[in-house]
Amino acid sequence: MNTKLSVTELAREIPIVSEVDVAVVGGGTAGVMAAVGASREGARTAVMERFGNVGGMINMGLMGHFGNRFFNSQGQFIMGGPPVELLRRVIASGATPYASLEEALAAGDCIFYRHEHAGRECLRLLEEARVEIWLHACFSRALPVNGGGYDLLFECKGGRQALRARQVVDCSGEADVACSLGAPMQDEKTRKYSWGLLFEMGWVDLERYQAFLAACPRSCPEWTPWLAKHLGMTVAEMTKDLYWGEWVDGKNRAWPFRPQIMKAVAAGDFDLVRQLPEGGMIRYGWDGFWPEPWHGADTVTANVCMVTGLDPHDVRHVSIAEAAARKYAFEFLQFCRKYLPGFEKAVIRTMGAQTVARGGREIVGEDRLQAEDRSRPAIREDAICLATRDMLGLPLGMFAPRGVPNLLVAGRCADQGYAVRASVQCMAAGYSCGILAALAAKKGLTPMRLDLAERRAALEKHGVLLQPRGPVRENFKIHQPDLPGIPRHDADDGFERAKKLS
Ligand SMILES: Cc1cc2nc3c(=O)[nH]c(=O)nc-3n(C[C@H](O)[C@H](O)[C@H](O)COP(=O)(O)OP(=O)(O)OC[C@H]3O[C@@H](n4cnc5c(N)ncnc54)[C@H](O)[C@@H]3O)c2cc1C
Repeated sequence: MNTKLSVTELAREIPIVSEVDVAVVGGGTAGVMAAVGASREGARTAVMERFGNVGGMINMGLMGHFGNRFFNSQGQFIMGGPPVELLRRVIASGATPYASLEEALAAGDCIFYRHEHAGRECLRLLEEARVEIWLHACFSRALPVNGGGYDLLFECKGGRQALRARQVVDCSGEADVACSLGAPMQDEKTRKYSWGLLFEMGWVDLERYQAFLAACPRSCPEWTPWLAKHLGMTVAEMTKDLYWGEWVDGKNRAWPFRPQIMKAVAAGDFDLVRQLPEGGMIRYGWDGFWPEPWHGADTVTANVCMVTGLDPHDVRHVSIAEAAARKYAFEFLQFCRKYLPGFEKAVIRTMGAQTVARGGREIVGEDRLQAEDRSRPAIREDAICLATRDMLGLPLGMFAPRGVPNLLVAGRCADQGYAVRASVQCMAAGYSCGILAALAAKKGLTPMRLDLAERRAALEKHGVLLQPRGPVRENFKIHQPDLPGIPRHDADDGFERAKKLS
């Protein structure tokens, strides 16, 4: 911030518009499931969302696909309850190329879908669970209430209002509630992760583009030295670099149209990387773009705007990132139009509502995942849901901010939330947190004080799997990136998939 000025806010009376057992802040993947879980456990529940729709990244964020986190590496099912229900409903609504969840899971590692349908099904789940839904309600501050619980202040069209809740589940994706209550954060992670803005391009002649790709040689020997020189690095430095190392010739993420990139950069038509104010940077994101024939025979989704080095909680940084990403998307479009056959008439059809940090704030939890959790012979007893890795159960303590009672933080800002931030995993954690928040409200306890056996019984009653289900399957293969990891796309992979499905 470049001003030392400040203003004193005058004390004022704020109407409490509703009083509930459990309030969920943020209506994304984690939030929808948390609200459904709390309500199914019998709590009067409200969800507060700053945008005009629910679903978060899986809807307004145009997230590409549900990463398949349904199985462990031995082919046993690890997910139950509404996360599975939601996926079934999205498929039944015709938003994917599949006839059933089983078919989708058998087809590959990711489930591509139409975003708006996911949003609609999230809304239906909330309505059916009789959750109070507050839209265009932006949480701003939490005030502890004497005797437990919180008043949550939020900004809406009618000005500032409040909601009183005995338990809160923070699913803002940015730990807004935890932060407002002074919960300790892992500050070193705040600027560590990249941000992305997804967008869809339409009017693409995919057949011509595919023909062009097929003719592109996989190897481009001049690329690696060119890129190193362009970045001001040695080839050895670049090869070791976490980001640019993936671009070295022969690596998966090195793209087939590299001669076109070199030409465009030399002509001043495209920047692979650009510095931004305040220490930020925007780069051509390695996820690239992939065709989505079920979104339209002429459509590709792009995940190419990658911002780093900025603080997702500083309004100036957020503004820089948003403006840069939106501008970059159009520059990329111009590059495609000029250099890639099939894109001559392409337009940007739709863009995500927000440029979103993949990580950002993470709380310091009452407990955390340990390295040995990844190779335990049995699942932790205090696990509230399972993760893809064998025997990896996520402990309640990683969702309970240290020293702040009656609050759970689900989604990607849990302690080590980045490691388990895939949408399906966020749903599972959100659901379990909602159930336990409701149980805690019923018992008048903070969730960490709930009896372990009672906790497990409540979770299992609502369909949460605390042990993998089904037989061990020999030679089961599923794409499982190392934690933390992001799903990988390769141009060829996308087109193979498209061919199979269209
Ligand atoms: C660019 C990008 C690409 C990704 N791609 C994939 C992918 O392909 N596959 C995959 O499985 N995962 C992917 N992920 C990860 C996954 O999408 C997210 O980690 C996951 O969906 C997060 O869920 P969430 O509920 O924690 O957060 P979100 O979905 O971000 O939901 C948070 C919600 O809270 C609301 N909110 C925030 N602040 C407030 C406030 N103050 N008041 C009220 N409401 C508020 C937001 O509007 C939003 O609706 C991607 C993530 C990013 C950023």
